[in-house]
Amino acid sequence: MEHNSSNNFIKNIIKEDLEAGKHDKIVTRFPPEPNGYLHIGHAKSIVLNFGVADDFNGQTNLRFDDTNPLKEDVEYVNSIKEDVKWLGYEWDNLFFASDYFDTMYNKAVLLIKKGLAYVDDLNADEIREYRGTLTEPGKNSPYRDRTSEENLELFEKMRNGEFANGEKVLRAKIDMSSPNINLRDPVIYRISHTEHHNTGDKWCIYPMYAFAHPLEDAIEGVTHSLCTLEFEDQRPLYDWVIEKCEMESTPRQYEFGRLNLTNTVMSKRKLKQLVDEKFVDGWDDPRMPTISGLKRRGYTPEAIRAFCHEIGVSKAYGTVDSQMLEHFVREDLKLKAPRTMGIIKPLKVVITNYPEGETEWLDAEINPEVPEMGTRQIPFSREIYIEQEDFMENPPKKYFRLFPGNEVRLKHAYFIKCEEVIKDDEGNVIELRCTYDPETKSGTGFTGRKVKGTLHWVDATHAVPAEFRNYQPLILDEEAEEEEDKTFLERVNPNSLEIFNGFVEPNMKEVKAHDKFQFFRHGYYNVDPKLTTNEHLVFNQIVSLKSSFKI
Ligand code: ATP
Ligand code: MG
Repeated sequence: MEHNSSNNFIKNIIKEDLEAGKHDKIVTRFPPEPNGYLHIGHAKSIVLNFGVADDFNGQTNLRFDDTNPLKEDVEYVNSIKEDVKWLGYEWDNLFFASDYFDTMYNKAVLLIKKGLAYVDDLNADEIREYRGTLTEPGKNSPYRDRTSEENLELFEKMRNGEFANGEKVLRAKIDMSSPNINLRDPVIYRISHTEHHNTGDKWCIYPMYAFAHPLEDAIEGVTHSLCTLEFEDQRPLYDWVIEKCEMESTPRQYEFGRLNLTNTVMSKRKLKQLVDEKFVDGWDDPRMPTISGLKRRGYTPEAIRAFCHEIGVSKAYGTVDSQMLEHFVREDLKLKAPRTMGIIKPLKVVITNYPEGETEWLDAEINPEVPEMGTRQIPFSREIYIEQEDFMENPPKKYFRLFPGNEVRLKHAYFIKCEEVIKDDEGNVIELRCTYDPETKSGTGFTGRKVKGTLHWVDATHAVPAEFRNYQPLILDEEAEEEEDKTFLERVNPNSLEIFNGFVEPNMKEVKAHDKFQFFRHGYYNVDPKLTTNEHLVFNQIVSLKSSFKI
């Protein structure tokens, strides 16, 4: 496995730090909050954190930032662990922020003793009002000048459950007129009478992210704390917490641009809403940009890592074309996936001059780009299926597929010629009668005449029924452009899933969940791990074969 990161400014910083002897060893962390499943944006952060640590023989912690019990759940803890492993990474340590609650509490007490934190009785709305704006300074809370003794006593009462949710908060005492709003006495502890997945009912006060996160990093000896750009303005607070709490280790925070993708929402809150409101069939629905959704769709860890390396890491905001992600899965599967033929919308063809009851087995390469993959055997007999769209009764010019009187090549088999069209009472084409020419067998070097069209097909007698699921983007960007204020739920594509019942080659009886194939003309498909049973095969379209995207 490639195990390295692309060149980026963070890697350069780390290199300089190591050369300057600032650290013996670098430590990074990936710090998800277990309030949802990981998405492709998290993959960027995972590849970065684990990648740079690997490059410099450092270590990476997987740390659950579980400081908000209302939204967190062990289901998410487990899925996150699984997804990180699936992406190909092993953490050096597994930590939970909640394991540090005692230390964090003691650090808050230290701040109170130093006169750097106070218990405030203002409610959330009042705190917002007092905070001021970007252009106006804030106002001091009337409770700001409580004595350390009083604050210690109140904070202990908060901890002991003597107050209701929201009745009091603990705030850092920094500067209500700071030009950086984050420094205007941020709340660092709040009351929440909520059971925690890890600490049970031990705590009814929980630290806020801005206070907890720097402490978590410092406790673990993280050297480079990598986060997304929205946290840039919080860096002074991050440094303040570490300094004032007298942490031994002093991690540095570095920010990079978060990943955004076209036709994709990338926030756990929104993704959860799609799940809860049943727009999709769970977090691992193949249309979801979650790691588990991408996995079920058929994306590979190799493709996702290659994509993350290619997009790189920078200080800029931007949106990446989701076709680029598709490009990397095509690249990865091109030489790995066996080729096969499948019919998505079948039309029956009877080859009238082929002997009844007879079957011959034809040789077909498994992947012409990788001859070592060998050949497979495909049956051919009197009845086959082709795609409905490969026949037209009255074709336009330059239509080289099947039409009355025309001859085409059947991939890996013979030339056939359309002699007769059978219709039902409503005039729908239900069957074609064709003849074949035994001289034209594939692989025998026939050069007698040429045909312009090559069709894929499956033998009707031996074909295995299969369900094909084709996908379109779940979220439509165009809608957003047309109507500025459409919510993302109004942009959900009602046609993001199309289901077809078709047929595949008989050797497909043996497939396992997550086997991947390139179906001739249709694209790459993954055997769906949830819907496939011994009796019913389901293929998820990973990507179509062609894209207009060039990198
Ligand atoms: P979301 O907004 O989707 O809920 P989050 O940032 O709240 O994401 P966390 O669980 O806190 O989710 O994220 C864990 C790590 O993943 C953080 O370090 C965060 O910066 C990073 N991360 C989250 N989303 C992205 C993204 N789109 N691109 C890059 N990194 C991301
Ligand atoms: Mg979050």
